[in-house]
Amino acid sequence: MEFRDLKKQYQKLKSEIDTAVAKVIENTNFISGKEVAKLEEQLAEYVGVTHCITCANGTDALQLALMAWEIGPGDAVFVPDFTFFASAEVIAAVGAVPVFVDVLESTFNLSPESLTDAIENVLAEGKLKPQAVIAVDLFGLPADYTKIQSIAKKYGLYILEDGAQGFGGRIGNKKACSFGDIAATSFFPSKPLGCYGDGSAVFTNNKEWAEYIRSLCVHGKGENKYDNIRIGMNSRLDTIQAAILKVKLKAFQEYELEAVNTAAARYTKLLQGLNLNCQTPEIPDSFFSSQAQYTIRFSDEKTRSKVQAGLKERGIPSMIYYQKTMHEQKAFETAKIYTKLQHSAALCKTVLSLPMHPYLQEDEQKQVCEVMEKYLT
Ligand SMILES: *Cc1c(COP(=O)(O)O)cnc(C)c1O
Repeated sequence: MEFRDLKKQYQKLKSEIDTAVAKVIENTNFISGKEVAKLEEQLAEYVGVTHCITCANGTDALQLALMAWEIGPGDAVFVPDFTFFASAEVIAAVGAVPVFVDVLESTFNLSPESLTDAIENVLAEGKLKPQAVIAVDLFGLPADYTKIQSIAKKYGLYILEDGAQGFGGRIGNKKACSFGDIAATSFFPSKPLGCYGDGSAVFTNNKEWAEYIRSLCVHGKGENKYDNIRIGMNSRLDTIQAAILKVKLKAFQEYELEAVNTAAARYTKLLQGLNLNCQTPEIPDSFFSSQAQYTIRFSDEKTRSKVQAGLKERGIPSMIYYQKTMHEQKAFETAKIYTKLQHSAALCKTVLSLPMHPYLQEDEQKQVCEVMEKYLT
């Protein structure tokens, strides 16, 4: 069993992908070819924003947004304590200070109460200027943007949506990657919409930021690549990756997103039916997840270890997302803590992500649950 079965997906899409890749190679327009512009158009339309800029990877996409807002030394940027390292890494990379915020136990997403507390404490200290919050759509579930937007408005913060795992999610009819003032997603192969290497996109409705980011992506270009009006970076999506993504976006829209949600619902039903002592993912009313990960939670670390070892023995892969909180990472060991980080550390000890992808079969899921039942009872 595969944790995320990219081989099955390729078998299904092989002829279309092979044709698309061969066409790019024949045209030899490997950088910024017409497939890139076409993909950007399709992505912007799908998400429901006016501008989409593709880039080299999700980490760059996040950093480019912070650079567009000229965030740097002396600025505080708020970020969940329970996420992939890159969400916080980019803050430090531009010279600003990451301020870690606790998450909710129910959805694993940013806690609005903790965010307010952290902002108030930064203001009370009077050393840093609160500038932005990076809200992460963890495991595919959009963060609570209604609450986050009202806090951001009150304190004058930009919202950067880290939709690296969120692409395809929704709140009501509004799609993930449209909630932030700027949003970033990632096309890393195992993300909800993945390419065959690194890739990403930035989304915004703000024309000025979009143009600025387009310039930053290509060495701070002005009129062209050899006219350089600011310091930027080299962060573009390869034409081959764009061609692959165009095929995959079609499958994603036509059936993959629905299939992965069917698989998630099946797990939840199976696990609840077995009455195992584990917490299944909570999707609040009117929220829709892209199911980037199916992550359950056990009562304690010992139980999780027992289950994970049992699964491994039967050849079933599982992953711990995430093993460490941000504030426990060595890279951030000197970071000052501004609010109580209670749930993030507890989650790291008790969560477990199970095999999940659009091509997962019911019998495979039954097998996963049976093995878990054996080791839990
Ligand atoms: C994967 C991921 C990123 C980084 O994306 P890359 O394309 O790997 O650079 C950032 N944030 C989150 C939450 C992620 O899961």
